[in-house]
Amino acid sequence: MRILLWMTLVLLLTSCGDKDSNQAQGDNASQQQVYKWKLVTSWPKNYPGLGTAPENFAKKVEAMSNGRLQIKVFGAGQLVPALQVFDAVSQGTAQMGHSGAYFWTGKNKATAFFTSTPFGLNAQEMNAWLHYGGGLELWRELYAPFNLVPFAGGNTGVQMAGWFNREINSMADIKGLKMRIPGLGGDVITRAGGESVNIPGGELYTAMQTGVIDATEWVGPYNDLAFGFHQVAKYYYYPGWHEPGSSLELTVNKPAYEALPADLQAIIETAARAVNQDMLDEYTARNNQALEELVNVHGVEVRKLPDEVIEELRKLSAEAVSDLTADNDFAQRVAQSVEAFKRQAKAYHGISEEAFYKARQQ
Ligand code: CA
Repeated sequence: MRILLWMTLVLLLTSCGDKDSNQAQGDNASQQQVYKWKLVTSWPKNYPGLGTAPENFAKKVEAMSNGRLQIKVFGAGQLVPALQVFDAVSQGTAQMGHSGAYFWTGKNKATAFFTSTPFGLNAQEMNAWLHYGGGLELWRELYAPFNLVPFAGGNTGVQMAGWFNREINSMADIKGLKMRIPGLGGDVITRAGGESVNIPGGELYTAMQTGVIDATEWVGPYNDLAFGFHQVAKYYYYPGWHEPGSSLELTVNKPAYEALPADLQAIIETAARAVNQDMLDEYTARNNQALEELVNVHGVEVRKLPDEVIEELRKLSAEAVSDLTADNDFAQRVAQSVEAFKRQAKAYHGISEEAFYKARQQ
């Protein structure tokens, strides 16, 4: 009996030992496996800022993983068209994507909030909401049914209102205006009597040149100069009421992400966070240099939208959010989260950022 018990114990210990050693071998195998991924984007290959961010992300991931995760980046149209990034990553055609959430309002209108809310959060607040205010959790909940894990993938800061081939002196000038403006901003322009369309960035120059559209918003001076919009539009209006702190997205196909060992998942998360901050740094450094070139070299007329137009757009934006959330419970949760966060951020920013800008004077 005692011998039998002894043998059972030895057997148990041996099998435990085997299990541990199998586990170790498994870990070792995943440590050595090389993953080769594709990342599709909505931007021309190596386009300044928007296009270089995913390239930088891929380089960081490859360096940090010592070559175990290699990511090949594709420009818009190289593997899939600009506006099919979401579907491509959802279906696993590519393991990753870099794009803007508000291009996917056809999937769920709530996606618009994860790029920007008109008159909503600026870049600093948007990053804080996503990473410390519950925003990223909501974003992941929204994308889970599509097999996607989203990460913040850059922020442009406050954008410009856009390029116009007519002066905007009153709301009457928006009537009949055909403008490229995605997301909730587009909804607002439609409410104002205009017509909003979404066209990929790479096609906007021609669309303006041929009169397919009368106006377009894109990003800000650094990106707009790169597309040459000053050659096809006369007036450059500010401020970017519709996109005060637009977030880009890095999406990962969920099964592909879950198949990675934990250290590679952590590398993706860390590299995404680095690229997210880096884009804002780059835009902050380069936007005004580009604006000076637009004005001093190309003679662009920079104009401020009249106060009464801004006021009316603000009212229409509140209506657009209200109507969207009326029949979309998830959008309502997101809108409430953004609004609550904005209130508390604004309260302190009133006596910090805002008060400081006024105090600095120059
Ligand atoms: Ca934009």
